[in-house]
Amino acid sequence: MQERLRALLIAPPGAGKGTQAKAISEEFGVETISTGDMFRAEVAAGSALGREVAGYLERGDLVPDGLVHELVRAKVLDAVERTGGYLVDGFPRTLAQAERAHDEAVQLGVSAHAVVTFEVPRDVLVQRMLERARREGRSDDDLKTILHRLDVYDRETAPVVGFYDELGVLVRIDANRGVEEVTAATLAALGEALHARSRS
Ligand code: AMP
Repeated sequence: MQERLRALLIAPPGAGKGTQAKAISEEFGVETISTGDMFRAEVAAGSALGREVAGYLERGDLVPDGLVHELVRAKVLDAVERTGGYLVDGFPRTLAQAERAHDEAVQLGVSAHAVVTFEVPRDVLVQRMLERARREGRSDDDLKTILHRLDVYDRETAPVVGFYDELGVLVRIDANRGVEEVTAATLAALGEALHARSRS
């Protein structure tokens, strides 16, 4: 029997990760674990963790690695146990997160079949996020914070894409086109990766 999909989404803010994550979850029957949503929920609930991370989210800075790893690890292992797979949106975001996550995932036999990155030109990302700000009023979607988040992505997260490319599991998707086209390309690529790398 073919395995359930295990995948990571790593893309700049505004690339459409959240929208595509929904489509992937539905198609492959896996749960989405979104680190951004997890942190926003903690902030909204006013938990101890939420109070600790609120400033980072507000400024568009990354939450320190130490606060991210255990949280994601627990969620991923729980999803694997219950459903056999996972889709992680927004992690890993630094090389240190990626190296540790990869080592642990290999040890536990739950490494990703595929790591998807959505490629969109910077000016398009800025426009999309400004529109989202008007629609949803996210506090980290003002222009100054948007530009800062893109800089943080280029500096901290872009090397993570190279890390998975070297491991041979990277799937690059041109996401500078309509949502449906991006979804179709993503689902097709993930289907192929799952077929090729699943221990059947
Ligand atoms: P997102 O919704 O994925 O853009 O994430 C929103 C915010 O949550 C980011 O700007 C960071 O402050 C924080 N965050 C989410 N995922 C991570 C992560 N893997 N490492 C560090 N900070 C994160």
